[in-house]
Amino acid sequence: MIHIVDKSACVGCNGCASVCPTQCIELKADEEGFSYPVVDVVKCIDCGLCERVCPVLVQEGERVPLHTYAAVNNDNEVRVKSSSGGIFYPLAVSVIADGGVVFGAVFNDKWRVVHTHAQCIDELYRMRGSKYSQSEIGECYKLAKKFLSEGRRVLFTATPCQIAGLRRYLRKEYTNLICVDIICHGVPSPAVFNAYLCEEGERAGFDVKDIRHINFRDKREGWHASSFVYSYVVASGDEGKVHTKVENLYQNLYCKGFILDLYLRPSCHDCPSKRFKSGSDISIADLWGVEDITPELDDNRGTSLIFINSEVGDRCFESIAKEITFKEIPFVEAIKGNPQINSSAIESKNRKAFFQLFRKEDTAALIHKLTKASFKKKVQRRVKIAVKKIKKIVKI
Ligand SMILES: Cc1cc2nc3c(=O)[nH]c(=O)nc-3n(C[C@H](O)[C@H](O)[C@H](O)COP(=O)(O)OP(=O)(O)OC[C@H]3O[C@@H](n4cnc5c(N)ncnc54)[C@H](O)[C@@H]3O)c2cc1C
Ligand code: SF4
Ligand code: SF4
Ligand code: SF4
Repeated sequence: MIHIVDKSACVGCNGCASVCPTQCIELKADEEGFSYPVVDVVKCIDCGLCERVCPVLVQEGERVPLHTYAAVNNDNEVRVKSSSGGIFYPLAVSVIADGGVVFGAVFNDKWRVVHTHAQCIDELYRMRGSKYSQSEIGECYKLAKKFLSEGRRVLFTATPCQIAGLRRYLRKEYTNLICVDIICHGVPSPAVFNAYLCEEGERAGFDVKDIRHINFRDKREGWHASSFVYSYVVASGDEGKVHTKVENLYQNLYCKGFILDLYLRPSCHDCPSKRFKSGSDISIADLWGVEDITPELDDNRGTSLIFINSEVGDRCFESIAKEITFKEIPFVEAIKGNPQINSSAIESKNRKAFFQLFRKEDTAALIHKLTKASFKKKVQRRVKIAVKKIKKIVKI
């Protein structure tokens, strides 16, 4: 049965539970809100499958991408609705147009982040945009295998560890599978996100079920200064009027705690899937530093960084080439502004204190208290970068 000596190494991919022939593994959330496998030892037949599929116990080798591109979607509407340059959407549309199925992360009706699949273009809009909370894979590995066995093309988009989990779960190469991972800073606790939303609701007079929309990377103030935006209807009083709250990403307390690594999944501090170990065909990211690398592709509406990791990825990229404007860039330049490509986030020194007080104190107030000092430093760094950018623009 599954035995990871150090619980904190488990990425929560659900691979072990998906493969278990006696269904004796269930993922259950711990006190921090992250899910871990729990085994019903009475039902376990000791077949060892769970350990063979685990992407932490069996890790693939590091890779170097075949190509590195800066890219923007030519359709500005798509780009504005996506978190970076809008590359996920055309990849997904091309697979669906071919009769395929796309897997990705969406908000469910309780505003929890879950993985699901789409078989028509109209269903794709829910997958757009980064959601800063760990997504639950649920039955998606099993479903993907079913579609693959039926001969349908499958595009699976997820974090690198979820892609590594899928690859190990399948234990076979499928020519009809395309894996796309996002470059991943780390995933915050779903319980913290949920508590934050509930408490925001208590303050403003709405229930979580009355939230209408959430966007972590709204671009109304531009991509370089993305906003966290949500809208809701208050429970009583003003006849269904929709209220919208807009805050700079770096000022919103929930996002601040995420950026400062206060409540990431423990495995994210020693990620087993960095340096392209996930086995993905394509990796997508934000091209931070675009203003220095390829300023002609920076209009503040979002620029993607794309890594092509395999021939399958190369063919897939070619199929959307007409819909995007792109430029090949040196790998070493591309990764300069994005340390998360190769290195894991360093745990905040206040992480332990946060979880000791979580659920005992107001979440936003607690984040504020524990991030004040480090955030000041980060803001000073950001201000320096902004000043540098403004100086450049003035020169132009
Ligand atoms: C938690 C998280 C951390 C990230 N960290 C970085 C980083 O450090 N550096 C960087 O350059 N980019 C990071 N990204 C990725 C980046 O912000 C963009 O999402 C990515 O470049 C795709 O952008 P897009 O414009 O092509 O498409 P979008 O429409 O923005 O793409 C959305 C895609 O992201 C997937 N997705 C969204 N939320 C989740 C989630 N919670 N779990 C799994 N998959 C999800 C969707 O399934 C879809 O495939 C992160 C994204 C997330 C969700
Ligand atoms: S050893 Fe086999 S039966 Fe036991 S938990 Fe693992 S997969 Fe399930
Ligand atoms: S990493 Fe995935 S497969 Fe391994 S124990 Fe955790 S949930 Fe199971
Ligand atoms: S940082 Fe690594 S372990 Fe954490 S969610 Fe991202 S890929 Fe998974």
